[in-house]
Amino acid sequence: MPAQNRQVPLPSSVQAFDKRRVAFEAWLLERGSAIKQITNPYEVSRFMGVDTDCIVYRKANNVISHWSGGAAEAYRAFLDGAPWRAGARGKRDPKRTNVVLSLARRDGWACVFCGRATEIETVTIEHFVPITSGGTSHMANLSLAHKDCNAEASHLSVREKIEMAVRNRRMPAMDAETPPPGSGRLD
Ligand SMILES: [Zn+2]
Repeated sequence: MPAQNRQVPLPSSVQAFDKRRVAFEAWLLERGSAIKQITNPYEVSRFMGVDTDCIVYRKANNVISHWSGGAAEAYRAFLDGAPWRAGARGKRDPKRTNVVLSLARRDGWACVFCGRATEIETVTIEHFVPITSGGTSHMANLSLAHKDCNAEASHLSVREKIEMAVRNRRMPAMDAETPPPGSGRLD
């Protein structure tokens, strides 16, 4: 299993980003994206991604500090010549819908991270071990999650993610055993 560092590093400074900015922005436009106006001095780049804006952030010293909204995935695809396309996901592919429905059948519709209900239109499929780290698309590695919760959890280690999921997972069987306060007197 050659899990070598085949990943090209992302630009780590504004200067490095700017070297390829024109090529990157042209690449984005060819793939249905739009270059957006930055909204504060800490944004290096803002563009339309998949379902949301992608933003590249810098610190005061021009070091790039954060890639949000799928910006890193877009830039990697640019570097690797991999397929990428901006815009709403639109029509769900039926394979994905099947996976979502299978997960809902297994776990219910609650978000694995916050426990609140998800909806089929907006739910995302969480990979506990990311594909980029060798994770699979086997059901055992997948759960349903809100897009925001999923994005938040992406900074966590696999262990932290699972701990968070276990903490928040609704356990209907256990809930059913816990009588509401004031009911079920034993004497
Ligand atoms: Zn959630």
